[in-house]
Amino acid sequence: MVSNKNSKRLFLKNLKDFYLFSFLTQFFFIKNLKAKSVKPKVVIIGSGFGGGTCVKLLSKFSKILDLHVIDKYEQIQTCPFSNLVIGNLIDTKYITFNVNKNLEAKFYNSLVKYINSEKKLIYFSDSSSMNYDFLILSPGIGFKKNQIDGYSIEDKNLVPHCWAGDKNILEFKKRLNDLEDSCNLIISSPDYPYRCPPAPYERASMIANYLKNKKINFKILILDSKNSFTKKKIFMNEWKKNYGNSIEWISKKDGGKVENVKNGVVTTENGLKFSPDLLHIIPNQKASDLFNDSRLITDDWCSINPVNFEINGHEDIYALGDSVDAGDMPKSGFSANSQAKMLSMNLVNKILDKEYIDPVFLNTCYSFSSKERAFSITAWYKLNNQKNRIVSLGSKESDLEANSLVRLRESKEAFDWYENITKMMYG
Ligand SMILES: Cc1cc2nc3c(=O)[nH]c(=O)nc-3n(C[C@H](O)[C@H](O)[C@H](O)COP(=O)(O)OP(=O)(O)OC[C@H]3O[C@@H](n4cnc5c(N)ncnc54)[C@H](O)[C@@H]3O)c2cc1C
Repeated sequence: MVSNKNSKRLFLKNLKDFYLFSFLTQFFFIKNLKAKSVKPKVVIIGSGFGGGTCVKLLSKFSKILDLHVIDKYEQIQTCPFSNLVIGNLIDTKYITFNVNKNLEAKFYNSLVKYINSEKKLIYFSDSSSMNYDFLILSPGIGFKKNQIDGYSIEDKNLVPHCWAGDKNILEFKKRLNDLEDSCNLIISSPDYPYRCPPAPYERASMIANYLKNKKINFKILILDSKNSFTKKKIFMNEWKKNYGNSIEWISKKDGGKVENVKNGVVTTENGLKFSPDLLHIIPNQKASDLFNDSRLITDDWCSINPVNFEINGHEDIYALGDSVDAGDMPKSGFSANSQAKMLSMNLVNKILDKEYIDPVFLNTCYSFSSKERAFSITAWYKLNNQKNRIVSLGSKESDLEANSLVRLRESKEAFDWYENITKMMYG
C-alpha cells in the first residue's frame, strides 16, 4: 500500500514532470513553427496571481499570439503575506511589486468597466474600448452588499477590511496602534466560499503578535459565520501556546454570526451584544463585479469548463482565480497560479489546433501563528470522470504537535514559496 506521504511525493513528481513535458513540447513545436502573419489578440485583465502567471507564460509564445495586459494598478500589493505586514514581521515593501513590462506583451494601466461578449469589446472607465480574439479574466473577488445590517465596506470610519490588495494596510495598522491597554477586538469571519480560507485566523494571530510586542493586554474575539475552519486544531493550539487565552473563537452555532452593527454595538444571530474597541469585519464575498456588470454571470460565482477555463455560455472568454467556481479547489494565490498554468497551456493548444490536455492542479496554503512558526495544508486535484468538475485527490496537513524546529522549517518554506512565485510573476 502506498502511504499518504509517498502518494503525495509521487503526485508532486508527476505534476512537475507533466508541467515540464507539456511546456517543452509546446516550446519545441513553437521553435519549429513559422511566426503567424495574423496572430490572435489575447487580452488578460488582472496582473495578480492568476493573470500575472498567464502573462509570464503566454509572453513566451509571441510567435503565435499578440498579448495585451490590463490592470487598474501599476504596482501590485499582494494579499499573501499581507497579514505578516500587519503582524510587523515584514514591511509593505516586501509585498509590493511593479508589473514586469519587459515581457513580449503590451501593458495598459486602466480600469475596465465592462465587457461586451457579443461584440468582443472591452470598455474602460474613460469610455475608450479595446477588441480581443481571446479574453482571460482574473480580476480577483467582489463583496456582497447589505450582508450585515448597519455595515458598509465603503464606510471610512470602520477599519478597512484589507482583503483585496487595495493598499490600505498602513491605515489598518494605525488603528491597531491607537489601541490602549486592556482593549477588546472583534473579528467577524465570513461564510464560505471566500478568498484564502485560513487567512482570517492567520490575521487574528498576526494582530495578536503586534499587540503582544506592543506589550499591552488585549482580547480578540473571532465571531464566525461558520461552524469550523481549516487547520482549526493547529490554530487553537498555536494561539494557546503563543497568546494564552487572548484569542477566543465563537462558532455560528454558538451565536457567532454577526447580524447587525449600530453605534459601535455588534449584535449576533443569537442576540449576543459586544462593544469592541476595534471591529474588523471581513465581508462575505462573490465574483468580481466585472462579471455581473458584463452579464457574464447571474450567480455569485463564475461557472467555467475546467478543461480550458472557458466561461460557460461565453465563447473565447476564459476566467480563473478567485472569481471562478473551481470545484474543490480553495480560492488562493497558489490555486490561481496552478489554474493559470493549465489555462495557458490549453489556450496555446487551441491556437495551434492541438488537443487539450487533461488538467491537474495543486494547492498549498501556509499560515503563520507568530514569527518563525508556520504550518500548512496541501491538496492535489484532477477532473472528475465527466470532466466538468475539479475534484480533490487528497490532502496533507502539518502535524498538530510539531516542534519549534518543524514550525520554523515550514516558515522558511513559506517564505521560499512566496519569493519564488512573486519572482516568477514579477521578476
Ligand atoms: C489576507 C490574505 C492572505 C492571503 N494569503 C494567501 C497565502 O498565503 N497563499 C495563497 O496562496 N493565497 C493567499 N491569499 C489569497 C490570494 O490573495 C488570492 O487567492 C489570489 O490573489 C487570487 O488571484 P486572482 O488572480 O484571482 O486575483 P488577484 O491576485 O487579486 O488579482 C486581481 C487583479 O485584477 C486587477 N483588477 C481587478 N478588477 C479590475 C478591473 N476592473 N480593471 C482592471 N484591473 C482590475 C486588480 O488590480 C488585481 O491586480 C490571501 C488572501 C488574503 C486576503
